[in-house]
This record gives sequence, structure tokens and C-alpha cells, in this order.
Amino acid sequence: MTAVRIYFNNIWLALSSIAIGMRITMSHLFVKSVTTQYPDVKLKMPERARNRLYVNIDDCIGCDQCSMACPVDCITIETIKSTPDQDLGTTSTGQKKRLHVPVFDIDIAKCCYCGLCVPPCPTECIVMTDVYEFSEFDRKNLIYNFSVMMPQDIEQARAKLKKAEEEAAAKKAAAAAAAAAAKAAAPPAAPPADKPAGAPPSQQPSTPASDTPGQPGKS
Ligand code: SF4
Ligand code: SF4
Repeated sequence: MTAVRIYFNNIWLALSSIAIGMRITMSHLFVKSVTTQYPDVKLKMPERARNRLYVNIDDCIGCDQCSMACPVDCITIETIKSTPDQDLGTTSTGQKKRLHVPVFDIDIAKCCYCGLCVPPCPTECIVMTDVYEFSEFDRKNLIYNFSVMMPQDIEQARAKLKKAEEEAAAKKAAAAAAAAAAKAAAPPAAPPADKPAGAPPSQQPSTPASDTPGQPGKS
């Protein structure tokens, strides 16, 4: 392509792109403009919009799956095991709850709204809502605490678990001591009888492979 041809080609490209841009501008020029009077009027968010997280703590089993999936570590969960005599009930999806959840915090200031914490939840109790107006003046207010356990309930659950663990350890130690005592009290085992001198070996001498029926022998 000659230099003159390139020159005129570039002019054509510039004019045509201006014309395309202006056509879009002109198409909007005579359309009635609509201004949404936010915040008095709010647009409806799409059905699958990812905004503020919500946790239905009644359905949380404290499995930590959401926290492990979070790429920015903004979910903090602490749990306390229940003791065998405690019944924590079941979730709405029918799963038995075995852990107290004294801490379930989400630092929403760190959250990037990726939604990765939602799919792994076995009880579907962590969800993304369409709430997008939750700005705060103080960052501390953006740490959401979902646990509903009171400090005295947490202390009680910890003390109960500690007691149950101590009792289980004492039971185990007593069982081990009883087993050791029973072993020490048992009479010593009789020594094995001596074999007579020259007694034949209990096994027959091995037969060479070539003599075994059905086995290929040496020629
Ligand atoms: S949406 Fe993403 S960043 Fe926010 S808590 Fe869930 S996994 Fe973490
Ligand atoms: S994945 Fe669900 S059930 Fe498990 S800790 Fe997170 S919110 Fe609770």
C-alpha cells in the first residue's frame, strides 16, 4: 500500500468512527431522559445481585466451610463442642447441630462480594442479599457479629466441655490402670514343652518344581 493510500485510509477510518459515535449520541438526543430520584426512589436489584451477606445463625453448624472458602479471610468462626448430654437441635435442613458457635464475625469492609462463601455451606444459611446501603462512619461497625450466644452461655459451654473432657480422661486412665492391674495379677504363662532330640521337621521337604504335576519340568 502506498503512502498516499495509507493517508486517505486513515482519514476514512477517523471519519467513519466519528460518524458511528455521533449516530449513538443522536439516537439518545431525542429520547425522554429518566432520572431516578435516589435515595427516594431505588432501582430494583437483579435477582442474583451480590451485596451484603446475611447468616441465619440458627441454621449454622459451625463447620467452617464458608470461612475456608473466603479468599480474604474476612469470616471468623469459633466453636465449642457440645457434650453428649446436650441437644443443640437440628437445622431447618435437618442436620444435627453438635457445635456451639460463640463467634461468627464477618468483616464486611474486607469482603469483595465474590460469593465464594455461599455455595459450600451445607445448610444454606449464609446468603448474599440485595442490601447495598450499609456505609458507616466507623470501620468497626462494619464487623458484623452473627453469634447470639451471651458471654455467660459461652463460659458455661466451655466449662461443661472441660468437665466432660476431664471426666472422659479420668475414665480412660482408670480403665488403663484396671487393665494393667489385671495383667499383673494373671498367672505367668506355662513354658512351651521341649521338642525331643532328632524329631523330624513338621513340614515335608519341598518338592522340586519340575516334579510337581502340572508344572513344566526341566528337559
Ligand atoms: S463474599 Fe467472598 S470475600 Fe465476602 S465473605 Fe464471602 S468469600 Fe469472603
Ligand atoms: S458454611 Fe454455613 S454452616 Fe458452615 S460455618 Fe459457614 S455458615 Fe455455618
